[in-house]
Amino acid sequence: MEISHILNELGEDRSLYFNAVAPPIVQSSNFVFDSFDEIRKAFEDENSTYLYSRGKNPTIEILRKKLAALDGAEDALVFNSGASAIFCSVMANIKTGDHIISVERPYSWASRMFDNLLPRFGVTTTYINGTDISNFEAAIRPETRIIYLESPNSLTFELQDLEAVAKLAKLHNIITILDNSYCTPLYQQPLALGIDLSLQSATKYLGGHSDTVAGVLTGKEDMLQRIFFEQLLNNGSGISPFNAWLILRGLRTLPMRLAHITQTTNKVIGFLKAHPKIDKVLFPFSDDFPQLELAKKQMTGACGLFTIVLKSDSYSQIEKFTYALKHFLVAVSWGGHESLILPQAAGIGPENFDPANERHRMARMYVGFEDADFLIADLEQALEVL
Ligand SMILES: *Cc1c(COP(=O)(O)O)cnc(C)c1O
Repeated sequence: MEISHILNELGEDRSLYFNAVAPPIVQSSNFVFDSFDEIRKAFEDENSTYLYSRGKNPTIEILRKKLAALDGAEDALVFNSGASAIFCSVMANIKTGDHIISVERPYSWASRMFDNLLPRFGVTTTYINGTDISNFEAAIRPETRIIYLESPNSLTFELQDLEAVAKLAKLHNIITILDNSYCTPLYQQPLALGIDLSLQSATKYLGGHSDTVAGVLTGKEDMLQRIFFEQLLNNGSGISPFNAWLILRGLRTLPMRLAHITQTTNKVIGFLKAHPKIDKVLFPFSDDFPQLELAKKQMTGACGLFTIVLKSDSYSQIEKFTYALKHFLVAVSWGGHESLILPQAAGIGPENFDPANERHRMARMYVGFEDADFLIADLEQALEVL
């Protein structure tokens, strides 16, 4: 299906809403029934009709159709955060005694679930370096149920060979779940590579304007139906109609935003790589990226987010540099209109800062919609502080 059709037409039936061009926000908690027969049918299968907006809602349905099509998936579920998409996809596929293999340092709330929550229910997790397929093979046990992936990682950008991992997992009847927030379906198609469940924080590129927290999960219909009934309806983690509408609005411009950010990112990285105060730039499409070949094989693009390693042995210098920037906001998240910076030192604190540790000198950067020259001039003046 063409992207233009998906983003501009699919799922939209204007005759249902006064021929309005923009779909309505159906801000209603419940829906009316014309007969006992209809009520009974709705109770039997809440997925068959509109009953209550914790489950199905017309605005959310339009979004589900578009998101499923973008991933080439049978179905999509939309959650009130990326974290709940992670939580529900994992919880729906484990029971006491099961084992999970996860790439090391996945998104923080994934690892908090693996480390703090799941052990209370007898589920254990082994973290591995996902850059080598043999590490997956070595970690598999008879009770392994899930392989949890994040490719690329959103701080250091390590990749996993998704096709190879999916093949291995299928041999052992293990479900693969991938966090595809960095690439979005525009730059990586996980299901086509054999991954079972693809999730994204829609807060990032899909929403695209730093005003909505949301998550997406795509996959096969039977699996997603189970997650809908067992997880989304039970823990009430579905998206609200208004937030679904904001994501729909974000989707309209997704290809243009990513194309613009891609150009800007390349210019900004080009400047940073040549700068004497920058030790390294970590970015999957960089010439010197260790997994460049794999990146080119399974991703069709990369943009926005990258990490710089600063040449500085001083915590306070790094803080001064950060706040010398006038056009990069110091904040978490990414994928919106505004450029961002988040140095690792901030979370480490001055007493634990060790310049010999490369991670301590890392700053994650995000390039937004601003012009490249505007951002480069800002970086140039701020780097003088180092
Ligand atoms: C932000 C993020 C998440 C979590 O999504 P929320 O919408 O914040 O709950 C998961 N994975 C990655 C890579 C993220 O950047």
